[in-house]
Amino acid sequence: MTRPVVVPVVEIRAVGVVGGGQMGRGIAQVFAASGFTVVLADVNDDALSHAVKMIERDMQRRVDRGTLTAEDREQARANLTTTTDYAAFAESDLVIEAVTENEVLKNTIFRTLQPHIKATTILATNTSSISVTRLAAATDRPERFIGIHFMNPAPVMKLVEVTRGLPTDEPTFQAVAALAERIGKRLVASADTPAFIVNRILIPMINEAVYALYEGVGDILAIDSAMKLGANHPMGPFELADYIGLDTCLAVMRVLHEELGDSKYRPCPLLAKYVDANWLGKKSGRGFYDYAVTPARPTR
Ligand code: NAD
Repeated sequence: MTRPVVVPVVEIRAVGVVGGGQMGRGIAQVFAASGFTVVLADVNDDALSHAVKMIERDMQRRVDRGTLTAEDREQARANLTTTTDYAAFAESDLVIEAVTENEVLKNTIFRTLQPHIKATTILATNTSSISVTRLAAATDRPERFIGIHFMNPAPVMKLVEVTRGLPTDEPTFQAVAALAERIGKRLVASADTPAFIVNRILIPMINEAVYALYEGVGDILAIDSAMKLGANHPMGPFELADYIGLDTCLAVMRVLHEELGDSKYRPCPLLAKYVDANWLGKKSGRGFYDYAVTPARPTR
């Protein structure tokens, strides 16, 4: 009789997050609010103080709404520190990268931080579309590398899409599965294919909406209203694109197009034009809508 293999599961207590943009700061908040010690890193102090300000603002809103106690807010805040130096990740059991969707940048970050972390530390990426296998292979621990894709906004959305690269080992997956439960998220496992499940379906839909705009099928308000009222979507595709970030949407379409080689994934030139203009959506104050005015007004 063969004995079942007992897989040791690493217990995660301390978490490092790289990138304090809309995803990284949300992920840091989720872990801090769930009792983990969190270190958040970004390129400079300005980026970090903005990230902390946004986290504090979100937690204050929760306190005002009565969904978070002031005491839990203080505890979460005390669990979180920030840094521009990866030496602060020395105690992290898990480090999640959530920087700009750019493979070269992500590889550079993993290479730079590896010397500062424990041999047992699990490395994870929050990438929306890049191959987990390829990112894993470029690190010093491909077997302890995994994709943990949080949805935006991370503190609100229930799903984490978890992707094993080809070399990812079972204890790493089990550790992340246990972690998902501790932070109150539902895990869906996706195969390591470009853009995984959610963005494989969602981002081409947004790209199609941009084509519809480009071809004059309807204007921004018409297309958003049509999808909200006609398809029961809570946000129209342009509202959602602005929320995600147009640079991220474009990067995901490019990965789908290049890696699946199917012309149906070609990014709409109009989407590229918005990104060229640095009209990236809510995070830059303007995308398909202009957020300088309330309510936000379509930009064309
Ligand atoms: P963002 O532009 O809001 O933030 C990116 C952050 O990375 C910025 O704070 C930037 O300063 C930081 N950064 C850049 N270079 C860095 C470096 N060398 N070292 C440390 N920090 C650095 O982007 P985002 O929307 O938070 O996306 C981050 C990642 O999450 C991407 O991989 C994206 O595909 C993925 N993602 C995005 C969404 C979404 O809806 N926006 C959802 C899920 C996953």
